[in-house]
Amino acid sequence: MNGLTVQFWGTRGSIPTPGRHTEKYGGNTTCVELRHGDTQVVLDAGSGIRQLGAAWMQETAGKPIRAHLLFTHLHWDHIQGFPFFAPAYRKGNSFTVYGEQRPDGGIRELLGGQMRGSYFPVPLAAMQAELSFHDTAPEFAVEGITVRTARLPHPGGCLGYRLEVAGSVFVFATDSELDGVALNKDAVQADHAAPREYEPALVEFFRGANLLVIDCQYTDEEYAGRRGWGHNSIATVVDLCRQARPDAVALFHHDPESNDDKVLAMADETARRLESAGVTGALVFAARERLAMKVEKPTCPLALPAAAPR
Ligand SMILES: [Zn+2]
Ligand SMILES: [Zn+2]
Repeated sequence: MNGLTVQFWGTRGSIPTPGRHTEKYGGNTTCVELRHGDTQVVLDAGSGIRQLGAAWMQETAGKPIRAHLLFTHLHWDHIQGFPFFAPAYRKGNSFTVYGEQRPDGGIRELLGGQMRGSYFPVPLAAMQAELSFHDTAPEFAVEGITVRTARLPHPGGCLGYRLEVAGSVFVFATDSELDGVALNKDAVQADHAAPREYEPALVEFFRGANLLVIDCQYTDEEYAGRRGWGHNSIATVVDLCRQARPDAVALFHHDPESNDDKVLAMADETARRLESAGVTGALVFAARERLAMKVEKPTCPLALPAAAPR
């Protein structure tokens, strides 16, 4: 069977950002769909999951929908679409939901928290689909897909996911500030251009991805004023890719203040700096809402498929 395919439904960080200045890369917050045969996996339920749910309802035309939802963390921009995920309200559908056990509760409790009466008119219990909730582990399987998790540095923590099946390797590392765990973080803090060194185990988690989707919310200049906010800059992404050598890298969690031109410029800048760091042949792009592609070693010429029309 073929490997994974991916489709982006929300690529924005922090808050939905509709408007003409974001219409190319999209204004919806984090939601990424993966498929392997009949197996469907969703990473996070930011506002993008509303349109994913609508697309599934249309595609299945009343037949049962079965999928797995993996949560990286529960910051608002990663869960706010869940109450608007229409397939969860339909009897006959079934979803397994994975998230990290936290000091203030498990995934069921925390996801349901945003649907309490003061926040939302409909409670979690109104969802008629079969929902089963699971704590994540360092490694587990979702049908035939091997899933590994890594704790990423971010306020309150965030899980990175590595999914592998049939030779297809997908790594998802949204919300992360990897400078915070660089072995030489003092040197990096003193000089943002200093090459970062990371624990071998962390690099291993990222190594050899066919597609790495990674938080690159800030330019290096912006990052200087946002240290500790939990997000990467271009220099960090370049250093990580220099060590982990992904075939393709998608910049993700675009800043609400970044318009389409800026997001494109950041991807170009990342590609240029990777090339001059000796990482040649990697496909570098900014994740774009509705873009769908196979997770495989890119063939030449390196090119992205056109995003599906909205
Ligand atoms: Zn976020
Ligand atoms: Zn976050």
